Amino acid sequence: MENEARLCMVCRTPQERGVTVLARFLCDDCQREIAAADPVDGRYEFYVRRLAAFWRELAGAPAPG
Ligand SMILES: [Zn+2]
Repeated sequence: MENEARLCMVCRTPQERGVTVLARFLCDDCQREIAAADPVDGRYEFYVRRLAAFWRELAGAPAPG
C-alpha cells in the first residue's frame, strides 16, 4: 500500500498518487497535465520551467562513484 502523501516537485503540494523519478515525486495530475499540455498554453512553459530546474539540479549533483 502506497498512500502516503509526498510533495510533488511540480505543483509543490502533497499528493498520494504519482511516481517517484530519481528520488523526486511527480503526482498523477501533473503527469497528465504535462502530457496533455499544449506548447501554446501558458501552463506548458510553467511545467517546462519546473522540470528544467529539476534536470539542472540533477546535472549539478555529484556523479556517483
Ligand atoms: Zn503535482
